[in-house]
Amino acid sequence: MLQNVASSLGMTYKCPVQELEFSLDCRRICQTCGKGSRKREDFTNLSLDLCAETTTDKLLENYLKPTQLEYNCTCKGQVSTMSAMFSTLPNILVLHLKRYRYTRDYRLEKVHDGTSIDKDLVLSQKTLRLVSVWSGSSLTSEIMQSLDITSLKAEVRTMT
Ligand SMILES: [Zn+2]
Repeated sequence: MLQNVASSLGMTYKCPVQELEFSLDCRRICQTCGKGSRKREDFTNLSLDLCAETTTDKLLENYLKPTQLEYNCTCKGQVSTMSAMFSTLPNILVLHLKRYRYTRDYRLEKVHDGTSIDKDLVLSQKTLRLVSVWSGSSLTSEIMQSLDITSLKAEVRTMT
């Protein structure tokens, strides 16, 4: 419907969610035989575990770093390594910082650790330049309307 309205006005409509879409290349490698598999997964945001005083790029690196998991390989190996890297980047990267975690006795506790949000979000392969950052526990429709979406664009450039 929005496409039709836009086209009747001589304009084109682009769904705003497309600005948020990106893909991760997820790889599993067997620790015994070295063989593995790859899968491309699509996202519109990432939920990052919050840890002691750190920066957003460290939280993101932590999310993407290789982790071990149990996996029954055809070679009878049972441990594989999983890792992920960006295969495409969004125009706007939404990072959700998980402010709550479970204690050992399964109670929820709020994490009060601070996080620095650097202007440049540097990953091993690419740099995302954050032009503006919005953070908060909830967005009301009034706040949503006052947000200038153009100011939230991230500039993507390749590191040299
Ligand atoms: Zn194997």
